[in-house]
Amino acid sequence: MIIQQQTVCDVIATNAYFYVDEKTKHGFLIDPGAEADLLLKEIDDKGYIIEKILLTHGHFDHIGAVEKIAQMLNIPYFIHHEGKKYLTDATYNLSAWFVKPIILEKAQYFDDGDVICLSSAPYICLRVIYTPGHTSDSVVFYDKVNKIAFCGDTVFREGVGRTDVPGGDMQSLWQSIENRIWSLPDDTILYCGHGLQTSVENEKYRR
Ligand SMILES: [Zn+2]
Repeated sequence: MIIQQQTVCDVIATNAYFYVDEKTKHGFLIDPGAEADLLLKEIDDKGYIIEKILLTHGHFDHIGAVEKIAQMLNIPYFIHHEGKKYLTDATYNLSAWFVKPIILEKAQYFDDGDVICLSSAPYICLRVIYTPGHTSDSVVFYDKVNKIAFCGDTVFREGVGRTDVPGGDMQSLWQSIENRIWSLPDDTILYCGHGLQTSVENEKYRR
């Protein structure tokens, strides 16, 4: 398994992740938030064959490079079905305030519990865990075999996501974290939307 963290920045530095099968080089791209050209060059240089773009949630700093990459590679992008209102409303995805408005009309949707596998390497799968709170469309992508979770802006190293944004809710956030993330094995590595990686153990027992 290749996990490549690539920090991209428009106005906020965000982590995009390549999640790629070592053998076939097929993989997913998670949260391409900005700098489409940089990400495309990385894909080209490394020989990755990206099958799908997966989004942890619909904020502008996680979706800014989706349109160009999806178009250039002719691949689909996926978000939780609650994400439709974020992708199609620039005040909801906050792009109206920070960058030029982003509207994405062609998403496909997943739901809690869906398992998304690579078509050319079907033993490589991510399970969708719905974790509303930071936004109403937030999810975690969980690889049970490798004990890895991509947790977007729900949990950070020594912090949690903000909830003072459209669709944010502090009570839901803590329910999601305590019921759905702390219940993963302690040694699960958490790859966050911003900043450094952490683990369930680090965050759960820090409190
Ligand atoms: Zn966010």
